[in-house]
Amino acid sequence: MLHVTISQERREVALATGELACPACSGPLSPWGYARLREVRLPREIRSPTPRRARCSTCETTHVLSPSWLVTGSDGQLLRPARPR
Ligand SMILES: [Zn+2]
Repeated sequence: MLHVTISQERREVALATGELACPACSGPLSPWGYARLREVRLPREIRSPTPRRARCSTCETTHVLSPSWLVTGSDGQLLRPARPR
């Protein structure tokens, strides 16, 4: 899972223009649907993000683009809020 620190709108433009690079081979990433809906409990709310999925045009690997405020659990499946620094 890749953590993306740009806005959703900017992410879409970056995916459409191939500005985001694959972490495995540095090939351009393009839009590839969405990952499974996740439920995240925050101190005062429950959010339901649907992470964006991208596919590398070179190695054909797919990657999940997670918002920067989420981090994955040790099993790579659970999402939890990022701790403020
Ligand atoms: Zn690649």
